[in-house]
Amino acid sequence: MRFLVGILVTLTLSAQTAPSDSTRILARLDLEKYKAHIKGLAQFGDRVQGTQRNRDAIDWLEKQLRSFGYSNVERHRFMSTDGPLENIYATKTGTGTPKEMYIVSAHMDGRGGGEAADDDASGCAVVLELARVLAMPDVRTSRSVRFIFWNNEEFGMDGSGTYALERVSQASSAEPKVLGVIQHDMMMYDHGMPPGPKQRPNADINIEYQANSKMAAESAKLAAALQEANRTQSPDYPAIIGSNMAGTDSIQFQDLVPSVSLRENERVTGIIRGSNPNHHEPTDNYENYTEEDFRLGFSSAKTTLGGLVPLSGITLVRSR
Ligand SMILES: [Zn+2]
Repeated sequence: MRFLVGILVTLTLSAQTAPSDSTRILARLDLEKYKAHIKGLAQFGDRVQGTQRNRDAIDWLEKQLRSFGYSNVERHRFMSTDGPLENIYATKTGTGTPKEMYIVSAHMDGRGGGEAADDDASGCAVVLELARVLAMPDVRTSRSVRFIFWNNEEFGMDGSGTYALERVSQASSAEPKVLGVIQHDMMMYDHGMPPGPKQRPNADINIEYQANSKMAAESAKLAAALQEANRTQSPDYPAIIGSNMAGTDSIQFQDLVPSVSLRENERVTGIIRGSNPNHHEPTDNYENYTEEDFRLGFSSAKTTLGGLVPLSGITLVRSR
């Protein structure tokens, strides 16, 4: 009997003290790598659609994804009003139900004549960092996760718009069923209103869905799952849910599948009222953000990955 109690105590203790898969997977996210991804995209300047800077940035993204281990990097070509463009994506294929899929996204184009570091290299860096961790050979996912970098968000949102039309609303049966879209757009700058030189003490992540959409209830659920992951896995900055998602690629999906955006501020009450003085300006440069700003952006990477672990069924395979 004493022996049995001993075993039970040991089992209980190890269940409490052994870090969960989720904790172990999230620990692989790396702030320095997150910053390096931002710098990597910033080197191409603002990446306006149709320019060589934009094309070079897509090639660079492909190189990164391949270096993580993805052999299935693909380009989704579409016709924008100014000519042909491409989105780029790679997929971590699910081992359980691969035809069910989450989309984790950001836009790779930018504007303003600077480096478009916050808008939206900071979101692309979240997507890259999640792609890097999920590519690790001992990380499995039951459902698929697709990492997409949209083109031409800034002048028509037609990269995401065309994808939503061709691959979701009029999708062939070969296309995985999208269970949710998690967009990341402007992740770093929460300096209050009017914005001051430093991050405000109560800086937060803003998760938004669109109340006035066909998938509002399902999108609110996705937002709540991410908020819960933030609370338990990434408590350094809280996540606040808003219901007026706007001005970013996820709106193209809001009537089709559960769709949310993660951002440094609410779009309508913050960003378009000038919460980031660098927004679309030549000053949106890597060097104009501080360690605290990078940490806020990085905190969204933890939030999204923390949410995806249960949603997609991400686990670690232990070698014996
Ligand atoms: Zn943006």
